[in-house]
Amino acid sequence: MRLVFASQNRHKMEEIKPLLPASIELLCLPDLGFTDEIPETSPTLAGNALQKAQFIFAKFKTPCFADDTGLEIAALDGRPGVYSARYAGENKSADDNIAKVLAELSGIENRNAEFKTVIALVGVGDTPLFFEGVVKGTITREKQGTHGFGYDPVFKPEGYTRTFAEMTLQEKNKLSHRARAVKKFADWVKNR
Ligand code: IMP
Repeated sequence: MRLVFASQNRHKMEEIKPLLPASIELLCLPDLGFTDEIPETSPTLAGNALQKAQFIFAKFKTPCFADDTGLEIAALDGRPGVYSARYAGENKSADDNIAKVLAELSGIENRNAEFKTVIALVGVGDTPLFFEGVVKGTITREKQGTHGFGYDPVFKPEGYTRTFAEMTLQEKNKLSHRARAVKKFADWVKNR
């Protein structure tokens, strides 16, 4: 089966590919010569993932999935959530985003947070399917570690003494939100 990943991010696709059965021919948007931005205007992660998958499915008429991820901080009523990438501004600076979150949490004891990834799959069956991966943790008081990207230096997963940015990519990938969502998705593809 041909499956399109509605993403410009070839790196993400290379992560997902080995988890899917070899019978799946996986393509991402650059493989299809599609370089435009896909609209992402929903106020929810699931809504955005669905919007991206439906947009690309309508264009290429090939089964398609998309993902969307956010960091939800309890004391900030779930922010930055769906706005995680551009929380501190349109330049999508990870340093600025972290600085804004740490400032908003200044003096706040409740540091609970979770990363959530939602994958939406369309074009296989009549209704869209959703796969969710969550990792719970806490927001540190300052940045720790240099690996990874985004909010990794301030996110410490539950049961660990190190942040995602202090882990190797392999360690992070064993427990991350994205890995968990992809595993559920891959298991569904294998069992269908
Ligand atoms: P996306 O939906 O995968 O593009 O993620 C949206 C935003 O969430 C990213 O720009 C990052 O700010 C943040 N994010 C997503 N995944 C991670 C992660 O694994 N570590 C840290 N930040 C992440």
